Amino acid sequence: MKAELQKLIALQNLDTTIRKLEKDLEAIPERRAEIEREFDQRAFEIRALETRRDEAKHVRARLENEVVEQKGRAERAERNLMSSKKQDEYTAAIREADAARKQISTLETQILEQLETLEQAEAALNERAAEIASLNSDREARLKAFDDETGLQSEHLKTAKNERDQVFAVLPKTLSGQYGRISTRIRDGVAVAEARNRSCTACFMSLRPQVMSEIRRGEEVITCDNCGRILYYVHSDSIKADSASAQPNVVVN
Ligand SMILES: [Zn+2]
Repeated sequence: MKAELQKLIALQNLDTTIRKLEKDLEAIPERRAEIEREFDQRAFEIRALETRRDEAKHVRARLENEVVEQKGRAERAERNLMSSKKQDEYTAAIREADAARKQISTLETQILEQLETLEQAEAALNERAAEIASLNSDREARLKAFDDETGLQSEHLKTAKNERDQVFAVLPKTLSGQYGRISTRIRDGVAVAEARNRSCTACFMSLRPQVMSEIRRGEEVITCDNCGRILYYVHSDSIKADSASAQPNVVVN
């Protein structure tokens, strides 16, 4: 029975591994999309900064042209002022010159604002220069690393399933049947649980001393009264002895 109990534990470990791997592999499209979204977001931010920089440059150039026009207007008004012979011509020229100067002052303020926007955008782009230079290659590298990782997981899953089939095949029919019934009935699919500190580690129900010593002996299959899982006991001296092997905590003495 001890050897069979050990096989049950191995079966449980394999099933837990398989379930986790299957869950990870099912989520591949989502996980991959997550990486792509992250890089899209960064590319989007960078494009937005570039657009802001280009727009500021463009607007500033337009404003500077307007300043040139307004300066011409002011000069014309000054000439008219000099040559005016009538009072109303004189007044009109003064008004025109004033209007042009006011306009120039407004335009210069707007140019300063655009300069500030331009400088901020350029500073932000400079700060991210290294990131910008390697964004595409970083994206490819991340996706490749992800594909490699999931490739390994698929391999691991295949191996675990083979191993599981082998362990299952050598179990007596009554035990594999019992294991199957419990694991399909229980929500998390975990049919085997450790009994530790006088309780079931899966459902935390405390176990009577009598039951605990039966589990410790490991001569027959004992199930938890509360959750129905098959219980096993890890002898403390076996943990050290077994720590070098693949499954350190599941040896039943
Ligand atoms: Zn339990």
